[in-house]
Amino acid sequence: MKNSDLIQRDLSVLWHPCTQMKDHEWLPMVPIRRGDGVWLEDFEGKRYLDAISSWWVNLFGHNNPRINAALREQLDTLEHVILAGFTHEAVVELSERLVALAPPGLARCFYADNGSSAIEVALKMSFHYWRNRGEARRTRFITLENSYHGETLGALSLGNVPLYRETYGPLLLETIPVAAPDCSQREPGETCAEYSERLFAPMEAALVKHAHEVCAVIIEPLVQCAGGMRMHDPVYLKLLREACDRHQVHLIADEIAVGFGRTGTLFACEQADITPDFLCLSKGLTGGYLPLSVTLTREEIYAAFYDDYASLKAFLHSHSYTGNALCCRAALATLDIFEQDRVVEHNRELARHLARVTEPFTEHPHVGEVRQQGMIVAMEMVKDRKKRTPYPWEERRGLRVYQHALQQGALLRPLGNVVYFMPPYVIDEEQIEFLARTAWDGIDIATRD
Ligand SMILES: *Cc1c(COP(=O)(O)O)cnc(C)c1O
Repeated sequence: MKNSDLIQRDLSVLWHPCTQMKDHEWLPMVPIRRGDGVWLEDFEGKRYLDAISSWWVNLFGHNNPRINAALREQLDTLEHVILAGFTHEAVVELSERLVALAPPGLARCFYADNGSSAIEVALKMSFHYWRNRGEARRTRFITLENSYHGETLGALSLGNVPLYRETYGPLLLETIPVAAPDCSQREPGETCAEYSERLFAPMEAALVKHAHEVCAVIIEPLVQCAGGMRMHDPVYLKLLREACDRHQVHLIADEIAVGFGRTGTLFACEQADITPDFLCLSKGLTGGYLPLSVTLTREEIYAAFYDDYASLKAFLHSHSYTGNALCCRAALATLDIFEQDRVVEHNRELARHLARVTEPFTEHPHVGEVRQQGMIVAMEMVKDRKKRTPYPWEERRGLRVYQHALQQGALLRPLGNVVYFMPPYVIDEEQIEFLARTAWDGIDIATRD
């Protein structure tokens, strides 16, 4: 089979996510035949370095022998069983290990199948907690501007991407949006910590005004990923935890993208030494193998639902595939690799190399900022470096970088004008250097006129 055969068949029956399908009249899609480590290979043998971990999910490479072996064993034992009234070994062991690894105080695991659903669970659980406690007037959520929490209606409501809100606004819950501590906006001479602290004022004001009607504040700790890899200092999380306690509202940490070692610690919240009331995890949870998500919460929240059946206080949420055994087994194999290979420590070296190779980008005439948090590094293309004038979105400069990278054998998928690397943790230093060269040339080409 050739690439073109599969493309033809695809275009006659599929509808792809996050895609204007008309683009495929001139922009060929890439059919992948197999994966191997950081590489994806098409039907004609061309290889692409997966610099974005296939939408941030893959941690230890494609076709990983250790995860494969664990899955094969599970496959010969139990593929799936209903999780209401029944249980199985993989889901129990995974829950034990997640509770042990997560910030202290998170004691209960509730499963769903994707990140958006984990957010739905946290949203409903927080609301329902307050209702069970006799505070049904709490119906609102505080969110940060430019945040992203997924695509289902509840998750979309809590997010704050302007295009989504404009399009689906009439279907969404009304939230209380607050300015985000995006450190790229800091004043000259101001540190990211100082700026993040200063930007806490609008959050405090929103809490003072609305706490009585608010269920929870939701945040993507340290990095707003989909919103263009915008970063803040851990001090913001510390202040937020302290304020949520003071105003008695929940804190939901959406670590769907940043969890599992992305930011330099296993969980981003660790860098602020805080425990959220809800911790949402997905993406890297199964090493990029299978769809699974989990919402962890505190024992006290669990206890507010624990009562005689007739009280009707039980949590109302379920998915057919909740706690799927294959997914849980992939997650366990992923946690094994973290332990056996001392991944968090190893990532610190890789992150230092990422910093070294992207340092020269700070001198590029059309790069406004290079920012990094652990295994995420982003370079923002700008029209005018001094004034930080952005390129108009219609010019689709990021797409030119994408096209150049594909030609060179790398999968980079800029977010608008933000070119970034978020590679699998099995990438090596030479491959990182190849990515830097590819991105540099791509940015050159994309900003030429
Ligand atoms: C990807 C993502 C989600 C949604 O997860 P899906 O599995 O795509 O539904 C939610 N929050 C953040 C921060 C994400 O990056």
